Amino acid sequence: MKIEVLLTKTHFFSMMINELFSNPLILWYEQNKRDLPWRTTTDPYYIWLSEIILQQTRVAQGQSYYEDFVNSYPSVHDLAQAEEEEVLRKWQGLGYYSRARNLHFTAKYISEELNGVFPDTYDNIVKLKGVGEYTAAAIASFSFNEDVAVLDGNVYRVLSRYFGEKADISASKSKKFFQKLAQEALPQGQADIYNQAIMEFGALHCKPQNPYCALCPVQTSCYAFDKGEQENFPVKTKKIKIKKRYFHYVILEQEGKFYLNKRVKKGIWQNLYDFFLVEHKKELNTEELMKELIQEQVPIANAKVVKQGEQYKHVLSHQHIFAQFWHIQLENTNFNKQGLELFSYKEVEELPKPILIANHFSEFFEE
Ligand code: SF4
Repeated sequence: MKIEVLLTKTHFFSMMINELFSNPLILWYEQNKRDLPWRTTTDPYYIWLSEIILQQTRVAQGQSYYEDFVNSYPSVHDLAQAEEEEVLRKWQGLGYYSRARNLHFTAKYISEELNGVFPDTYDNIVKLKGVGEYTAAAIASFSFNEDVAVLDGNVYRVLSRYFGEKADISASKSKKFFQKLAQEALPQGQADIYNQAIMEFGALHCKPQNPYCALCPVQTSCYAFDKGEQENFPVKTKKIKIKKRYFHYVILEQEGKFYLNKRVKKGIWQNLYDFFLVEHKKELNTEELMKELIQEQVPIANAKVVKQGEQYKHVLSHQHIFAQFWHIQLENTNFNKQGLELFSYKEVEELPKPILIANHFSEFFEE
């Protein structure tokens, strides 16, 4: 009896949510959705590519990368056969390069171990390297219409505002709570369109600032609108700790070639190339930098400082990097430091590099 009552309550709750919330969002989506290339396919390989590219990336920025990947690697086998350096080079400018390394690793796994067949259930998709719960839910629902709700920043915002849920989204226990709520709001059999709808609604309509409440299809039953508390949702108390780092990049040139280092250690920009780096806990002036170079046994005795650049602030999610570049021409010498290799200008242009390096290298030499 108790179970029956609970089921009835759950069923009734779902019906109410569908009528007041989920169905209006689907209708809104059909009338307002952006025309995006990954929305015209259900191929899990393309959906996966788009989802990995769009993590932490704006649609406007990610679209050209998506198109480039689809054109260069039309199948998972094509991506699997590419060199990792080529994939990283294509990724240049998107940041979070571990995504590209995992993408390549997983393509190889699907191509070689699964005969190119993408897993077709959430439980199997989530096991792939580089695929988290959100991405697995997106692929499982968009490609296979599996009834599994997505939960990303947009969904947190829409759900918390609409239902007036004040659980702190930076607390891990809240994730379970919101995941359950998201699942309850999902109309059975319509996961593909509903998941797209709620994310698009959060991105375009129920925006972080100045949501379009006056024109909102769910306004009459929205808690935050009713209380005038739109700006208070979602509740997030934990602030990200930002670390400051000071990078002094020395573009060491010798007979028209440049010394670069492949960053093999774990951390930001792994497997990308950068110039000779002096990292210090504070900003160094040229004199202090020269002392550091001498300590590092860089042969600067007869070297010429050609140019010193401005300091740039490069913002990553957990780090702010204050970077400055020096261009130094070395005399013909036997400078030999582990990890450093000489490359021609053209080769430097083609190597996978952090966008900070790519931009400033061309700026330095374009005059
Ligand atoms: S009424 Fe405003 S806060 Fe509520 S769901 Fe609509 S846009 Fe978001």
